[in-house]
Amino acid sequence: MTTLVWLQREFRLDYLPALNEALNSGDDIILAYFHDPEKTIGAANSVWLAHALENLAADVTNRKGKLWVVSGNFADTFPKLLKNESIQQVYYTFQVGEPFASMQQQALDVCKALHVRLKPFFSEFWLKPTDFSNQQNRPYLVFTPFYNGLLKQQEHIQPLARLAKETLEQTAVKTCPNHPRTLPEDLHRLRQLPWAQKLMDSRQVGETPTWQILSEFITEKLQDYPSDRDFPAYDATSNLSTALHFGHIPTRQLYFELQALIQSDAKVAPAAQSWLRQLAWREFARHLLFWFPQTQTEPFQDKYQQMLWRDDTSNDSQNLIEKWQRGLTGIPMIDAGMRELWATGIMHNRVRMLVASFLTKNLNVHWLIGQHWFEDTLLDADPANNIMGWQWVAGCGVDAAPYYRLFNPVVQSEKFDADGDYLKHWLPELSALSKKAIHQPWKYESECVEKGIFLGKTYPHPIVNLDESRKAHMERVQMMKKTA
Ligand code: FAD
Repeated sequence: MTTLVWLQREFRLDYLPALNEALNSGDDIILAYFHDPEKTIGAANSVWLAHALENLAADVTNRKGKLWVVSGNFADTFPKLLKNESIQQVYYTFQVGEPFASMQQQALDVCKALHVRLKPFFSEFWLKPTDFSNQQNRPYLVFTPFYNGLLKQQEHIQPLARLAKETLEQTAVKTCPNHPRTLPEDLHRLRQLPWAQKLMDSRQVGETPTWQILSEFITEKLQDYPSDRDFPAYDATSNLSTALHFGHIPTRQLYFELQALIQSDAKVAPAAQSWLRQLAWREFARHLLFWFPQTQTEPFQDKYQQMLWRDDTSNDSQNLIEKWQRGLTGIPMIDAGMRELWATGIMHNRVRMLVASFLTKNLNVHWLIGQHWFEDTLLDADPANNIMGWQWVAGCGVDAAPYYRLFNPVVQSEKFDADGDYLKHWLPELSALSKKAIHQPWKYESECVEKGIFLGKTYPHPIVNLDESRKAHMERVQMMKKTA
């Protein structure tokens, strides 16, 4: 009997039940990743994908196994492989959001038609969404009750088993016909581009380095995480989001690592709890997208269908959107964040909230435009986290409190980057400004001139008046409520 273990975003060997169960059955295994160039996430995410594939293939080879990377239209390659290799069962790890949801549906249809057994594993969740609901038997819609509910049901969270066998010889019975390369041509070319190489500068991809990064985070940074995590100039967070998106280590195991720490070390326990809570946001996002897959393109709150967003096809709008994308809005905190994103493929969480609020509320641009830009430029672009983040900030997500999330980027900048270190790093043209002026240079024109900074020439004037645009946003929300 031959079992196909189909990988999507589980680039690891340990703690992978789909692979473990197949190995334990003693069957021949084909371990495969299907690369469909039409079903990737975004450019930066695909660069990491290229490295992740190569890294995993090497790990598999080191254990005397083989990873098949099958390139082409999934609708063709998947059934072809099933037929050609006489596959009798397919094991896969369930993932939420696109492009995974439509591939999983296609796989279901194909397996049904070919009478192949298809078994999903829910290892990328702490608790399977269908096994976890509120007292009314409905999905949780607000984070805090969701988190409290999780804590109450902790005994149902099951640890994952480590890789059962030393070698992966069961996966090496055949070599992949027609697809000899580990890296499909498009990923190979993408990875070579200068910007892609720069993005991966000093990044470590794969299972072993990720455990190492986690261990360093716990010993060196976790203690100060609660107090420092909101300050973009500090290197205070784990930087694990891309590794978690690619499943280099499963968050289920992080949960157990943190529980062990909480039990054993009273000093670090509050910080571990704070980080656990942050990881739970990821779990929340996955549950939401599981239950409400339409929110990948539709607002969770129906009334937001009536929101009068800017016509984004006009030249004016295109111009504003481009200035936001390039970090040329004239609002330093927004520009610093957008330039960090462009240069590194990552942006600090607080700054993500600020740039999203600025785009959707001050510029009145539809949240999907920002979400797509993030999807294309973030290394950690993740369907569930990205959708939840944008809908949450735009006010149309599950947890409705739109006014509170109309962040003032100047006030936030003064609060979370008081000395302007983050601003100076990403906006060197403003680095001579005092820590008062750097957050809103347009209010300090004489200091700007004194320091050789000419608004409109060396740094832009603000593209929008923050107070007026805030008022206009409030009016639009009132209007939407009346028409909905
Ligand atoms: P840490 O603070 O160390 O947290 C540990 C892990 O918990 C993160 O790696 C992440 O997996 C999870 N996590 C932390 N905060 C959140 C959160 N608010 N929502 C969901 N999960 C969280 N995160 C992504 O992984 N991919 C995205 O595409 C993404 N898009 C976002 C878009 C917007 C508009 C916003 C506001 C947030 C978005 N986030 C996204 C969430 C968050 O910004 C990142 O997960 C975080 O910045 C990653 O840094 P870290 O790994 O150092 O996090």
